[in-house]
Amino acid sequence: MKSNYEALPGKPNSLWLATTPTTSFPALQNDLLVDVAIIGGGIVGLTAAALLKEQGKSVAVLEAGRIAEGVSGNTTAKVTSLHTLIYDYLIQHFGHDKAQAYAAANQSAIEQIATLVRDKHIDCEFKRIAAYTYAESEKEVNKVEAEVAAALKLGLPAVLTYETPLPFPIKAAIRFDDQAQFHPRKYLLALARNIHGVGSYIFENTRVTDFSDDDPCFVTTEHGTIKAHAVIVASHFPLNDMAFYSLRLKPHRSYVLAARLAEPVPEGMFITTDSSHTMRYHSGDSGIFLLVGGEGHRVGEGGDTVARYQRIEEWARERFAVESIVYRWATQDNQTLDKLPYVGHYSPTSEHVYVATGFGGWGMTNGTAAAILLRDLILGRENPWAEVYDPNRVNLISLPEFVKHSAKVTKHFVGDRLSVAGSVALGEGKIVETKSGDVALYKAEDGSITALSPACTHMGCFVQWNPAEKSWDCPCHGSRFAADGIVIHGPATKRLEQIET
Ligand SMILES: Cc1cc2nc3c(=O)[nH]c(=O)nc-3n(C[C@H](O)[C@H](O)[C@H](O)COP(=O)(O)OP(=O)(O)OC[C@H]3O[C@@H](n4cnc5c(N)ncnc54)[C@H](O)[C@@H]3O)c2cc1C
Repeated sequence: MKSNYEALPGKPNSLWLATTPTTSFPALQNDLLVDVAIIGGGIVGLTAAALLKEQGKSVAVLEAGRIAEGVSGNTTAKVTSLHTLIYDYLIQHFGHDKAQAYAAANQSAIEQIATLVRDKHIDCEFKRIAAYTYAESEKEVNKVEAEVAAALKLGLPAVLTYETPLPFPIKAAIRFDDQAQFHPRKYLLALARNIHGVGSYIFENTRVTDFSDDDPCFVTTEHGTIKAHAVIVASHFPLNDMAFYSLRLKPHRSYVLAARLAEPVPEGMFITTDSSHTMRYHSGDSGIFLLVGGEGHRVGEGGDTVARYQRIEEWARERFAVESIVYRWATQDNQTLDKLPYVGHYSPTSEHVYVATGFGGWGMTNGTAAAILLRDLILGRENPWAEVYDPNRVNLISLPEFVKHSAKVTKHFVGDRLSVAGSVALGEGKIVETKSGDVALYKAEDGSITALSPACTHMGCFVQWNPAEKSWDCPCHGSRFAADGIVIHGPATKRLEQIET
């Protein structure tokens, strides 16, 4: 029995990873003291490191794998403050001032990226371009109108329009001018080259397993300990869950295709009002592409993930003259319960440990704004965005969501143990029942079997097989493991336990 994996379009790699070299920073070898230890080398970690080093702080970025290969190496890299539909919601739920702080943070992030690109002469295909959220149906038009009105109240560059560069009609759209896009890895690798050296470090293949909140803080890794006066947890999903992030974050996975068209690629960045589909123009050394994304779902609940890629391809072919699909990839981002990221002190009692997470699919600007905010908090400067991003905020809007989300996590803890056995096809994984308990079995193309405990090493939920990525994904908190059980996405820090066959 064969899966339809082979029928998938394109090479399984992101356009960004496929068109940049792999990095080779050293692993940590000796204990070390720095001003700030930063856990994770994505856009948050690397931007925070660059900004702190600029202010004279010594930094050490500790990366479990290779930098800029996590979500930031697999994003669609729209650099915009137009986040589908958010401003009308923010004004209604949090009031004008907080909505304005969020708008200002994200607009400032675009300018921060532009400044770094200019000052550090970064060649990363940075391009000023318009962003659109568009309605395909009449019943969504009032949402577009409300968003334009809200955005204008906050001083954002919003325009209500009925035309876009897309080759199909739309009912209405919000356009933000003077937004941007870039090649995220070319940008981040250039930042990294400026960070490493003169008393600051990037360590790769150095997974952090724990940290303390003292002065100095101790950051424990697989290879040694770093002492630091401040720690930034920029690991995407925060590790070491002292502040219940597991109950406050929902990891959401979605899929991207990079297509070549037999017609001009529309210049712009586009998203539907329900976020079901996203598109972006890209022109670089590797040619001109249309990126098309969508088919999002909670991590571990994707079912037939192969079919998800196929549905995006179908959707794209119905709307564009697709000549070929060159790359395909998937990644995930964390959503918070009230749609605002968590950036600031890690917990209500943290003094020296900071966190940045929960960007809800908009981490290019929110992640950059997070780095600016954390730099300011660490330097003891006032920052007007601190309150709106405060991870320790208590607000009533998130409470019903909190209850729903916790119930879902609990369902996975209990329900997962009841799954039923079945045969395993070549190249596939499955949870099977054995006399000594449930086992996550992977049968490679050559017939060899890997048997693992299906219990996620983060909190014990049962992982699910993801056929398109050939991985074991945890539906509770979004940890992902390769077919052989190695961690490929946290919060888990340990591999799935191996079982003798
Ligand atoms: C399909 C998709 C498309 C998107 N498109 C856009 C877009 O167009 N525009 C936009 O603004 N946002 C977009 N986003 C969101 C954005 O890409 C993310 O919010 C952002 O990249 C997150 O950055 P990060 O630094 O938090 O995480 P990452 O880039 O994942 O970095 C975290 C790093 O921490 C490392 N790490 C994890 N655990 C440990 C540990 N224990 N020790 C050491 N290191 C560790 C990881 O290996 C990783 O390298 C998209 C998201 C998705 C899912």
